[in-house]
Amino acid sequence: MKKEINCESCLMPIKAREELRTVWAFFKLRPYHRSCYENSLKGAALFVGNQPVNGFPGNFTALAAFVLAWTPLFTDITPALSIVGSLIVLLRLYSFLRFEKQLPQ
Ligand SMILES: [Zn+2]
Repeated sequence: MKKEINCESCLMPIKAREELRTVWAFFKLRPYHRSCYENSLKGAALFVGNQPVNGFPGNFTALAAFVLAWTPLFTDITPALSIVGSLIVLLRLYSFLRFEKQLPQ
């Protein structure tokens, strides 16, 4: 049996990948419905991540982070950038494996 993914806001199961928004909040990656995210979370940007980990903005951030992570290898920029960039890419990967992969498109 497939494990259900429940929205952390309304506690109802999330059925499709399109409905899913994963958000990094309180040191944990949390799944929400897209509507729940838009209704209740966007205003609380001080307490939760102000953008979802998945979806187009998340993919764009992960891509930019991936490029940034490699930059210090070829320039004099601090290697800390590699660590931060890698963490963002890993978080994006974790969101995919933990939540998105289990949902139909
Ligand atoms: Zn919900």
